[in-house]
Amino acid sequence: MTTRDQMAQSLRDGGLAALAGEIESCRRCPRLVSWREQVAREKRAAYSAETYWGRPIAGFGDAGARIAILGLAPGAHGANRTGRVFTGDRSGDFLFAALWRAGLANQPTSQSRDDGLRLHDVWVTAAVRCAPPANRPTSGERDACLAFARRELVLLPNLRVILCLGAFAWDAALRLGAREPGSRRRFAHCAELLTLDGLGSDRGPALLASFHVSQQNTFTGRLTEPMFDAVLARALALAA
Ligand code: SF4
Repeated sequence: MTTRDQMAQSLRDGGLAALAGEIESCRRCPRLVSWREQVAREKRAAYSAETYWGRPIAGFGDAGARIAILGLAPGAHGANRTGRVFTGDRSGDFLFAALWRAGLANQPTSQSRDDGLRLHDVWVTAAVRCAPPANRPTSGERDACLAFARRELVLLPNLRVILCLGAFAWDAALRLGAREPGSRRRFAHCAELLTLDGLGSDRGPALLASFHVSQQNTFTGRLTEPMFDAVLARALALAA
């Protein structure tokens, strides 16, 4: 890496760190602030000895990533407990094991913020940064939070593909960049949209859709490991 590249990377890392600090201190949505903090106080019995994070969640991964993975929102007892996106619940177990199989993570598990997990060529984030009751943010909460996703994704200079987990993330990504509302495409597993505009360049990243990695899908076989491995392979092909 040249000195110029190193300086550019340092600026990007600084921008992402500053944005993470802003996200983690946000209290814009009263209902979600109340819920995330109530969950953090009351805790699940299995985690009663732990101190929950109880704050919004910033994105995590490789600032040089070509692929961003966009989820719905933090899990109440997953990321809202551990403080890292998709970390500490069944959804994360499925996701990070798949990233490891694809060569995009250095280990197949994601337990805590200091577990040594490193991602390569992938950034993991969410449309809404606070755990919502019943995993259902309102449209107003989604719209309030999307500015963070936009700013975060703009700070990934090599971004080529946004992999959206579930219909909520797909719709949120379209709101980030679709220029013509009439061109919006309905969510479907493996749906693609090749020219998402509006993220800081003339030709924005492609969108790719997958069923969410939630246990409602993975425990029922709606989304299997081979299916998700194929989605990641397609994301890598689109990013090439
Ligand atoms: S959902 Fe987003 S905008 Fe709302 S309080 Fe959390 S971080 Fe802030």
